Amino acid sequence: MTAFGTQFVPEMALATFDGEQWSTPSLVRSDSISLHPGAHVLHYASTCFEGLKAFSHPDGSHHIFRMDQNIKRMAQSSRLLSLPEVDESMLRTMILDLVGRYTDEIPASPGTLYLRPTHMGTEAAIGKAAAPSNESMLYVLASPVGDYFAGGDATLRVLIDQEGMRCAPHMGMVKSGGNYASALQVLNKARKEYQADQVLFCPHGDVQETAAANFILIDGNELITKALDSSFLHGVTRASVLTLAAEMGLTVSERDLSADELIERIANPDAEAALSGTAAVLTPVGTLIYQGKDYTVGTGKPGVTTLKLRKALNDIQFGVAEDRFGWLTQV
Ligand SMILES: *Cc1c(COP(=O)(O)O)cnc(C)c1O
Repeated sequence: MTAFGTQFVPEMALATFDGEQWSTPSLVRSDSISLHPGAHVLHYASTCFEGLKAFSHPDGSHHIFRMDQNIKRMAQSSRLLSLPEVDESMLRTMILDLVGRYTDEIPASPGTLYLRPTHMGTEAAIGKAAAPSNESMLYVLASPVGDYFAGGDATLRVLIDQEGMRCAPHMGMVKSGGNYASALQVLNKARKEYQADQVLFCPHGDVQETAAANFILIDGNELITKALDSSFLHGVTRASVLTLAAEMGLTVSERDLSADELIERIANPDAEAALSGTAAVLTPVGTLIYQGKDYTVGTGKPGVTTLKLRKALNDIQFGVAEDRFGWLTQV
């Protein structure tokens, strides 16, 4: 199987902002773009992106999951990066046009068509280190992907890092390119020294999230995750899982969690931990590495509640269960 996100449909939707207005979006070849080497994004990282998915249903229809949430977040990221304002209805049309043209490329369950809207500052102005780009490019790439979840008893090893930070604190809720590069050193070290799969960033003991997914702790009937603030990315999957958990009768606690409390709670045999995100859906965590020592989460196996929540979410996405929250947009 090809690696996640390395295969693309032949076209993408693209629009440019010239300083005054957006061009009419069009479908163009997806294998290259033309950028001036002095483009703002290449020097000053004025870029943000989104990740969302389209699904094939058993009745042959096609649906995009919570598209409006991703569009809103894209507009917010763009604003926080001082990029030109995203025209939300235009972006919506771009996504629907692209997916509508390539419904044949939406894999059958458990595969999906992963969509990657991307917005970047394109003004050729290397003197603008301290000023925004007046021009930008917005495009939507589409990549057919398989099931990211290994299944079976596979769980992740996650290192708790209390020294580093994923990104600058005021950039946490921005889905911006630079944040991911900024987390790589810590990640590479964790992989090499601890055979960790991911790093859970906990600056000064405050449990935040991993490099590209939110963190959820389940302790018996309680689900605990950090309350929304500007320090981390507000995941659409996180919000959806919290809704489903409440519907199942779990107590949902959005609050601060310290690394010490986390380690104490995972000793409970009922404890579960998971990473949530569009690509990962809900991926179980089996081991936390804390101050150089391994700690097993609950039984170390994928948790029953984690798998139940994962299935409840997937069932809506793939049209197996009713879309009772109005999360799907038919293409
Ligand atoms: C994208 C992302 C998430 C997950 O967000 P979803 O909307 O659930 O896909 C969480 N954390 C970070 C840092 C992310 O980039």
